[in-house]
Amino acid sequence: MSNIRDPKIWEKYHGIALEEAKGILDKNGAIKETLSYKLDDCICCHGKLTNAKPQGGFSECSRCDTLQANPRPLSSTIEKLRQPDSALSYFHKHVVMLSRDRRYKLFQERLKEINHLLCSASDKILDIGCSIGVFLDVLKDSGYRCEGVEAVSTSAEIGRSKGHIVHNQTVEELELPNSSFGLITMWEVICHLENPILSIEKIFQWLMPGGYLVISATNALALEYDFIWEDNKRHHFNLEPHIFQQIFSVEALGVLLRQKGFNLIECKTPGTMDLQNISDYSMRTSKRLKKGLLQRVLDTPENSDIRDKFQEIIQQTLSSGHMVIIARKGG
Ligand SMILES: [Zn+2]
Repeated sequence: MSNIRDPKIWEKYHGIALEEAKGILDKNGAIKETLSYKLDDCICCHGKLTNAKPQGGFSECSRCDTLQANPRPLSSTIEKLRQPDSALSYFHKHVVMLSRDRRYKLFQERLKEINHLLCSASDKILDIGCSIGVFLDVLKDSGYRCEGVEAVSTSAEIGRSKGHIVHNQTVEELELPNSSFGLITMWEVICHLENPILSIEKIFQWLMPGGYLVISATNALALEYDFIWEDNKRHHFNLEPHIFQQIFSVEALGVLLRQKGFNLIECKTPGTMDLQNISDYSMRTSKRLKKGLLQRVLDTPENSDIRDKFQEIIQQTLSSGHMVIIARKGG
């Protein structure tokens, strides 16, 4: 059995990622001017960002709460991050591959949760940002017809080598026939799209009337992101503005989907808060965290029911870092 924590693979991945981050981030966390452009309007609601002073490389829209990389990476900057020698390519090819079996089980669970959305077994499914095709494996093994979209060529090739149809293009570039799919999924992808609005418009066209869109993504109003800009320093090293180009709140993404013709079926934040992550990366530097409620929760023993109750509150108030939205194309 492969060791999913293989230190050599992780070390190499972190080395490439660090090199890319050095080229892009200056000391306050913003993307270098030569690699980016300044945003004037919110990419979600088009509200003015003039009062939203960028911090840690992100601006927060005062109207819809969307966090957005500002300055925003140029197309050429994003394109470079998808090349065969990039951290992303290495991550898919080696890190995802190592944890393939665990991911397969996770996707089996996810399919169980959305199985009821498929009206008939003949409905075709499109998985956008399919990486090496693990969800496609699950769908195929369960008897579904499916296709994937993957912008990283090395990952798309791995998916194709398993017999899957994988479109090696970005959603923004891709052209597909209208009304072709009963279900479209985007697992942790919308934060990384260059043009999420155009992508949602295209997805709407590609879905059959009554078809479903399932999106899981990072939630901008998650408690753990409240402090990422404290004193204009980054405290959460999982979020880099060249990788996470926008982070929507549940409400903002819901409004956007409705504007584009979708009906909302379900909006939730089912994930648990990553307490370990907060502890590892943020507690050392954040004044707010050192003295706050979160510190007191973290100070309770691992097996204390206080932690479970805290996670329940986080979920019930839509404050966990992971959101899931299910939307349906009317008609
Ligand atoms: Zn906005």
